[in-house]
Amino acid sequence: MDTAFLEELIEHKVAPEPLIAIQGLLNTHDYERDEELIGDAASARVWLAGADLIEEEATVSDEEVRDLTELRKILRRILESRTKGDEVDPGLYRDLQLLANKYPAGYDVSDRGEVTLCLKPVETAGELIGQLVGIVGIAQENDWWERLKICADDDCRWAFYDASKNRGGTWCRMEVCGNRNKNRRYRSKTN
Ligand SMILES: [Zn+2]
Repeated sequence: MDTAFLEELIEHKVAPEPLIAIQGLLNTHDYERDEELIGDAASARVWLAGADLIEEEATVSDEEVRDLTELRKILRRILESRTKGDEVDPGLYRDLQLLANKYPAGYDVSDRGEVTLCLKPVETAGELIGQLVGIVGIAQENDWWERLKICADDDCRWAFYDASKNRGGTWCRMEVCGNRNKNRRYRSKTN
C-alpha cells in the first residue's frame, strides 16, 4: 500500500499500517463535501490502484464495488455506534461474516514458517475485500481497532485514529469540529 497516498487523503490523525488502508477506505466518501471516490468500478479502480492496494492492471467489477462499499458501510456503522456509545447492531457482524466468506484472504508463509496475512497489492478488488477484513483482525489484536473512530460532528463524520493516552478523542480536529459543536451547544443554550 502507498501510505503517502493514503496520508494525503486522511490528512491528520493517521492510523498505523496496515490499518491506514481501512481508514482510507472509510474516508473515500467525504460527507462534508459530499464527494465519492469509489462510486463506480472505473473510479474505484483509479483510487485503489493509486493507493497501491490493487495492482496497476487489477480488475474491478461492479459487484466488487458494491461489496467494497458495503464493507465500508458496515465498518462505518460499527465504528459510529461505538463512538456514540450505542450498542452495535449484531446484524452488522453477520454481514461482515458474509463478506469474509465470499472473499477469503490470502496468506504468506515465510522461510521460517511464519504465516501472516498477505498485504501485497492484489489482482482483484474481491481479493482486497478479504485482505481488508483480515486487517480489521490485525487491528483488533493490536489495540488499534478501539482507536479508530468516526468524528462525532454530524457534518464531518471523518474516520480518525485516536492516539491519545486515554483514547478519549471525539473529534477529528478539535479546533474545527470540536469548536463548531461547542458553539452550536452554546447557541442552542442562549436561543
Ligand atoms: Zn471532524
